[in-house]
Amino acid sequence: MPEIRAEGLRKEYGKVTALNGVNLTINNGEYLSIVGPSGCGKTTFIKSIAGVVKPDAGEILIDGNRVTPLPIEERGVGYVFQEIALFPHMNVYDNVSYGLMVRGVPPTDRRGPVEEMLHMMVLEDYVSLYPKELSGGARQKTAISRALTSGSLLLLLDEPLGALDLKVRTVLRYELRKLVKDLGLTAIHVTHDQEEALSVSDRVVVMKAGKIVEVGSPMQLYLKPKEIFTAKFLGEANFMIGKVSNVNGRGSQFDVSGLNLSAGINGEFFPINGETCVLAIRPEFIDLTSKPGNVNTWACEIVSASFVGDSMRYEVRADNGAILLVKTPITEDESGFVNGDKAYVTLPEGSLLLYGLPEEGLEKALSLE
Ligand code: ADP
Ligand code: MG
Repeated sequence: MPEIRAEGLRKEYGKVTALNGVNLTINNGEYLSIVGPSGCGKTTFIKSIAGVVKPDAGEILIDGNRVTPLPIEERGVGYVFQEIALFPHMNVYDNVSYGLMVRGVPPTDRRGPVEEMLHMMVLEDYVSLYPKELSGGARQKTAISRALTSGSLLLLLDEPLGALDLKVRTVLRYELRKLVKDLGLTAIHVTHDQEEALSVSDRVVVMKAGKIVEVGSPMQLYLKPKEIFTAKFLGEANFMIGKVSNVNGRGSQFDVSGLNLSAGINGEFFPINGETCVLAIRPEFIDLTSKPGNVNTWACEIVSASFVGDSMRYEVRADNGAILLVKTPITEDESGFVNGDKAYVTLPEGSLLLYGLPEEGLEKALSLE
């Protein structure tokens, strides 16, 4: 159940800065996920916590103790590597008991904790099978069991479900959270799957190019992202550039390539008259109707329509040329729109997110590198 602190972590590989000043406290008993594009430093970060990578600068503290010089064996961590690393010549039982064996625990004393873990992970029927005989899900459960049998209270998971089918992955992610909470562990879970991160975590960390962009609860990050990159990386969002045409106590008006939008006061960003800003809105918060609404309604034309199972996904073109992605729930009595239909989009004031125009430009701010 330890508390982990990373202070000023830096790591360079030649010209690549894998970690560029990372500070983070992970609370006792917390389930924390780290998301970010490939190559942003997630694995380097979790390996620095584990003691597999030695940072060039900065410290790792576990429960207030500086562990930076200690190797992985002395940090009390259970680590599930990104590259699945079960021992192929050992069956499930031996893989799971490995940690206790290398610590010199005699076979008779290993049995209790190993069997308890196998029972908890529902792996009893697989004990004598070898990794190549297991399904992907059973293999990952074995790897997680192995990481935990030595009694580690800190579980480090690097893309633990990445190699699995979507169905198995979805089931296992909830099992994983339950296991962590039942055992009172602290878990750090690296994933590139943003839905996985949002659905199991107490807090989510978004990383980009070796830095932490934003940390918050899944709802905070999804509904009120403070950083434009968070809005881009977690879920989907439409981005528009607008010029402030009027500001009053209630909110502000924008000219978006010739069309008007008004936005309530939201977040910590207060636009000033004449300023160029970025407006963002998630596709499921846009209303698509055949009749115009009152505020923030634009006429549009449907340019693509796809049925996605639980929703319809439309691309619409507004009169100012803007293409917006819109997601609407499926209703039994409505057949939806088809290409070429004329319709109206309403962008609710309270759902618009406002940002200053990034110094490096919108495109660079939204890029994954
Ligand atoms: P992520 O897990 O987010 O995909 P990594 O932490 O694996 O990212 O890598 C961050 C950056 O550091 C990448 O550009 C990667 O190529 C580089 N890198 C990571 N490990 C090494 C290494 N052992 N040698 C050289 N470059 C590395
Ligand atoms: Mg990685």
